[in-house]
Amino acid sequence: MSEERFASAAPLPSRIHRLHELSLDLWWSWDARARDVFRRLDYPLWRRTLHNPVKMLQQISEQRLREAAGNPQFLQAYDEAIGGRDEERRLEHPWWNANGQVLGGGTVAYFSAEFALHGSLPIYAGGLGVLAGDHCKEASDLGVPLVGVGFMYPQGYFHQRMSNDGWQEEHYERLSWTEAPIEAALTPEGRPCITAVPLGDRTVLAAVWRVRLGRVRLFLLDTDLPENAPWDRELSARLYGGDRETRIQQEVVLGIGGVRALRALGVSPTVWHLNEGHAAFVALQRIREHVEAGASFDDALAAVRRSTVFTTHTPVPAGHDAFTFQQVEKNLAGCWGEMGQHRERFLALGEFDNGYGPQFNMTALAMRTAAHINGVSALHGEVTRTMWRGIWPDSPADQLPVRFITNGVHVPTWMAAPVFAWCTRHLGAGWLDHTDDPQLWERLLEIPDTELWALRQRLRQDLFVSIRERTRARWTDERVSPNRIVAAGAMLDPEALTIGYARRFTAYKRPELIFRDVERLARILCNAGRPVQLVFAGKAHPADEPAKHHLQSVFKRCLDPAFGGRIAFIDDYDMHVAHYLVHGCDVWLNNPRKPLEASGTSGMKASLNGVPHLSIGDGWWAEGYNGRNGWLIEGHANPDDPEATDAADAQALYGLLENEIVPAFYERNAENVPERWVAVVREAMRSNIPRFSTRRMLKQYVMEMYGPAARKP
Ligand SMILES: *Cc1c(COP(=O)(O)O)cnc(C)c1O
Repeated sequence: MSEERFASAAPLPSRIHRLHELSLDLWWSWDARARDVFRRLDYPLWRRTLHNPVKMLQQISEQRLREAAGNPQFLQAYDEAIGGRDEERRLEHPWWNANGQVLGGGTVAYFSAEFALHGSLPIYAGGLGVLAGDHCKEASDLGVPLVGVGFMYPQGYFHQRMSNDGWQEEHYERLSWTEAPIEAALTPEGRPCITAVPLGDRTVLAAVWRVRLGRVRLFLLDTDLPENAPWDRELSARLYGGDRETRIQQEVVLGIGGVRALRALGVSPTVWHLNEGHAAFVALQRIREHVEAGASFDDALAAVRRSTVFTTHTPVPAGHDAFTFQQVEKNLAGCWGEMGQHRERFLALGEFDNGYGPQFNMTALAMRTAAHINGVSALHGEVTRTMWRGIWPDSPADQLPVRFITNGVHVPTWMAAPVFAWCTRHLGAGWLDHTDDPQLWERLLEIPDTELWALRQRLRQDLFVSIRERTRARWTDERVSPNRIVAAGAMLDPEALTIGYARRFTAYKRPELIFRDVERLARILCNAGRPVQLVFAGKAHPADEPAKHHLQSVFKRCLDPAFGGRIAFIDDYDMHVAHYLVHGCDVWLNNPRKPLEASGTSGMKASLNGVPHLSIGDGWWAEGYNGRNGWLIEGHANPDDPEATDAADAQALYGLLENEIVPAFYERNAENVPERWVAVVREAMRSNIPRFSTRRMLKQYVMEMYGPAARKP
């Protein structure tokens, strides 16, 4: 595979021949040394390929490679990166060394419908995928034995372009296999792994790709094989693209095909972690395996439950897949094997009535087949227990088996390079291994205000460089209209207080809350000498019409002269855009309708770059806010009255901006430093980084969920 892939590329000089290997391990994307290698190798090409080393090595000239192989600085960077990777693989992490016995030598299989790892592998839509990607990266860093299982979507999620009047247009681009960091997964006999999945009355074949993430491997199922019927080839084409029928078929392939693929690859997990209900059919295949090995249905179910971990991610009912029983019966027709006699019992495991009559609900199935269940924040744990109360009719309300582990973010992925370098300078070598240690971050208290402020200024400048470059590219390459240039942020001021709002556009996140009183908002934004600007980004799900209207109306606000060119909408929100927004804004705004935001993670990414959170006390912020590390929007209206809640929350938001946020940012001392502001920045980092990193999160999963799930009965 690798040989063929690079056949047309220039051969690598032997001194730097391991560049291939480095390009195919996404570990490079979160290791500063490895990123530096590709950046130095050919900077213009690095930019042109959107930081895709696999593509770079196919396009790079022989001459450039020869120069690099003879350049002592380049060779030093190369040796450091290669050496760093070798060492990481050789050494056991001290924490794992001390605690890893809880897994008893076993492996965790982590199933997710999406994984956000890097822009060169667009197989994610948003927060769920980012969490899955960060979980796997952290597992690699800590040395937790984990394999991921997901889908290779050749067209991924859509790219967003805006029409001249602000209507979202969806573009799908076919990923070039040869330009992605994937390789064919091989069976123990060295053959490419192809798995047969029974789907209805036919069999669909799925190829398996392997992605390397340092010590972790991710396996991606792909039905686009010539042996499959055209409609089956299309099954894995798009993420969340098709109708209900496509969705259930994808879920059969992910759950049942995923277990079969692991078996074929010789991987025998001890713990099965289902990230959201999409992969809950894993239970069917595993119960069937036990039954075919001679177990009774009850014993099989008990064994599966013991070793299954399930994480649920949303209190929004529409976020939980449910199908009609006919749909399920039709698509599972070929999946039963010797379990056929227990068909009714299995189907009953998914039964749930969420107000529209009994349906087969994937979350209910996961909850009944997992003994270890968690929500993703303290508040979401509570909401989940209420929402799914009916699953455990015999348990007292305070004894439902649902706990919580609050989400976190992967620090090396989400921390801006200048912040990272700054931490290395101030916190000492080895700091990255202690990101969950509150003591480490106490040292921030010793750093002078001037330094912290200079860092924040630099990050805001970098944001505006990125926004201008993106706008320039739309203007020159795509010839978009002047309207769209204005909306894209051409008039933004790199010195002004900048508020970021970037997330999926959907009604419960209330993207238009800040526009409830447009006159008051205009006064805040256009205050001479104390200007404020808003930068929006986000996609609406292709089928979410109301969200598209919200998006359009935000776009139109960007063009309204009453706001002085101080509102922008950055199109095509993805990990790349998320990076520069969470690094460079001054404030991160989050105003969902409580309690519908299960956790939220973009505010955590912002905090770790010194961007304080301005948020409703929902999700992680209900536990994160301490009175000094950001701002809490609290309207105090009756939560059962949405209209009154919106009005009160908007008032609270304006009040915070006018009385606290704007003055703190613009009041400067003799050195032109906003002292009050810097105190919030410092506190945001000090208090949030140790608590809301995947380092803390994954350790909790290992000790509270994986350990108990690995225990022998
Ligand atoms: C972090 C991230 C999200 C999730 O953000 P929320 O705050 O949870 O809404 C979604 N999309 C992208 C591209 C992200 O990077």
